Amino acid sequence: MELNQLTAHELLEKLNHQETTPEAILDSLQARIRKVEPQVKAYVRGEQEAGNLTLNSFSLGPLKGLPVTIKDNICTEGLPTECCSKILRGFRPPYDATVISKLKKSGAAIFPLKANMDEFAFGSSCENSYFGPTHNPWSLDCVPGGSSGGSAAAVASDEAIWALGSDTGGSIRQPASFCGVVGLKPTYGRVSRFGLIAFASSLDQIGPITKDVQDAAILTGLICGYDPRDSTSVNQDVPDYTKSLSGDIRGLKIGIPKEYFVAGLDSEIKTIIQEAVNKLQNLGAVIHQVSLPHTEYAVPVYYIIATAEASSNLARFDGVQYGYRAQSDNLMQMYKLTRAQGFGQEAKRRIILGTFVLSHGYYDAYYLRALKVRTLIKQDFDQVFGDFDCIVAPTSPTSAFKIGEKALDPLKMYLSDIYTISVNLAGIPAISIPCGFTKKGLPVGLQIMAKPFNEEMLFRVAHTFEQNTDWHKIKPRL
Ligand code: GLN
Repeated sequence: MELNQLTAHELLEKLNHQETTPEAILDSLQARIRKVEPQVKAYVRGEQEAGNLTLNSFSLGPLKGLPVTIKDNICTEGLPTECCSKILRGFRPPYDATVISKLKKSGAAIFPLKANMDEFAFGSSCENSYFGPTHNPWSLDCVPGGSSGGSAAAVASDEAIWALGSDTGGSIRQPASFCGVVGLKPTYGRVSRFGLIAFASSLDQIGPITKDVQDAAILTGLICGYDPRDSTSVNQDVPDYTKSLSGDIRGLKIGIPKEYFVAGLDSEIKTIIQEAVNKLQNLGAVIHQVSLPHTEYAVPVYYIIATAEASSNLARFDGVQYGYRAQSDNLMQMYKLTRAQGFGQEAKRRIILGTFVLSHGYYDAYYLRALKVRTLIKQDFDQVFGDFDCIVAPTSPTSAFKIGEKALDPLKMYLSDIYTISVNLAGIPAISIPCGFTKKGLPVGLQIMAKPFNEEMLFRVAHTFEQNTDWHKIKPRL
């Protein structure tokens, strides 16, 4: 196997035994990028820049210079961070996001190319990127999912060892599921958002996208923890997540939410998920059906709250402080032209929708009401977690769809998040792991959810499943 095909923990072994170097790892990634990037397009400007990549300096630390790929909405000092939007063209942050400082302190090298994404993380397919879509490594005419589609496709195609993404309504888990890799959304407040360019501040979390569960446990441990620069980060000890990889789930109580197995769920996916649930049962878990009765409101509630927060967060992009500026002698005109030319279609749609639900006269009817239903959704989970250790469900109602298939129908696109967004509304952690393939050879993801700050449960269940299946070992033929 080439170095770029290995997991991070396998490479760490080699680095520790001086059997390889960060430069050799970079070389093998670079060779892979040169070969497959013209088809996959996981990185921003990947094809042009793959020729002369160098690793920035890295400190002495346990990661020993192992490179980590970063989504384009996480600030990396001196490296372009453009949220795949024209309006942030040329923006090179003068500082690192907290997760980046933490990784650097651990001895990681930040990979010099950023991963492609939907503009400002608005989307479920990576088609909303200013730089054009990423292609699914398993089937190049399909989307990789979104918005962290570049991170997931890079990991799946061995163009990255591991990666960071962000998840506001499913943007780590859904692309992980579409690309056959592992993706975790941590508990809200577990990982600092300082330096993550905000989409919806009450929902956003940064998390890992990796080749296996052990790597996810390692990377989560490195980025978690209290940060005084993020007032929503929670001061709670970070456990050693690798200790949760016990391989034993005997006696655990797992709930299967009946509202997730209704019309809209592809029948092939349903069968694959049922087989995965049977597997968990054979491994000793106790399975019961549970109910999350407010699930049907999750999509509308999310698209009110997320767009409201997005419209407010995007107000700062005015052509004055960062990125793109339209030419005009008149200040008002400059603002208007910058925003008209700088934002893509989906960003504009969300600014308009978000501004509407926050406007006088509609605030109570839409925004406030959505907040109340959000509480009900959260209470559904509290109730189930009173009796159960975790909840298992599909990550997405379908496997990867064709590029262009939903691009012109925002409502259809929004429905592809139906199984992921409740988790963000409730603030709980969830992981997606590979659990099978459709007849067409597209990966399917199994989602596991747990109580706030119980990422350990996710790792335990996910790892046990992974150790007893081979799905994560199968690679796309590129
Ligand atoms: N697909 C969802 C949206 O379009 C979620 C995106 C995300 O998690 N960033 O809002």
